[in-house]
Amino acid sequence: MFAFVNGEVLDQREATISVFDHGLVTGDGVFETIAVYQGRPFALKRHLDRLSRSAKGLLLSPPDLDTVREATLSVVSKSDLRDGKVRITYTAGSSSLSSDRVDTKGTLVIACEPCSFGNGSKASVSVVPWKRNEHGALSGLKTTSYAENVLALSYAKERNAQEALFSNIANRLCEGTGSNVFVVWDDTVVTPPLSDGPLAGITRELVLEKIGGAEREIPMEVFSSSMISEVFLTSTIREVQAVVQIDGKPVGNGEIGPLTREFAKAFEELKQASSD
Ligand code: PLP
Repeated sequence: MFAFVNGEVLDQREATISVFDHGLVTGDGVFETIAVYQGRPFALKRHLDRLSRSAKGLLLSPPDLDTVREATLSVVSKSDLRDGKVRITYTAGSSSLSSDRVDTKGTLVIACEPCSFGNGSKASVSVVPWKRNEHGALSGLKTTSYAENVLALSYAKERNAQEALFSNIANRLCEGTGSNVFVVWDDTVVTPPLSDGPLAGITRELVLEKIGGAEREIPMEVFSSSMISEVFLTSTIREVQAVVQIDGKPVGNGEIGPLTREFAKAFEELKQASSD
């Protein structure tokens, strides 16, 4: 496998960045994870646009997107990656060991690896007891500061769940540590609005645009009640994945529900039809 580091494509094992890089020192950076199907990155333009939005949100000047696109394609093809993921990381660059940004030139790293995807599979989730701040400065930005998500995922794993869900300060459903969440409420597929703090997931966006579902605020009292008949997660890697258990309790009859099945099937078709 090959990686791109600041203008050079080289063997991943030989790729290095500075110990002063602020992606490492302060977690100051943004990233994207993009699915690669049959050697082609999926929804690349949408991911590049979000990378640029996240960088601007962190007051970093975004990298040149044509360069990032070319470098991404080059890493995937040189690595001969068929099915997997490619990750683009853009950090605040190399400064010092303090928090101040000195360098204004960012570090661009692109790496890839094979992986399997979750479309149509099942997961259990656990709701973490702490809150996402929907008004926080980083809310909605895909930054490299993922420690809270990693901690929440460990919390879920300790409870035999494969994903953790966050509620927000208003005590409404927000998102997972690496996924958006959809529920079937009143026989309708709905997902929290961006104003409730979730990341604007590319899979969420594609589902809403091309398959169905609407935005609706989902109070946690509703989420934990029998008013919810199905739940599914969306993400680049999970795709459309059914949630069959929340904190040990089955959702509906504990099997994949009919609407979730329909959405997963439609997503599979979307992947096949993609020309991006
Ligand atoms: N929410 C968070 C916090 C994420 O990290 C991710 C993806 O990693 C998502 C949602 C889903 O976004 P996407 O569909 O673009 O992968």
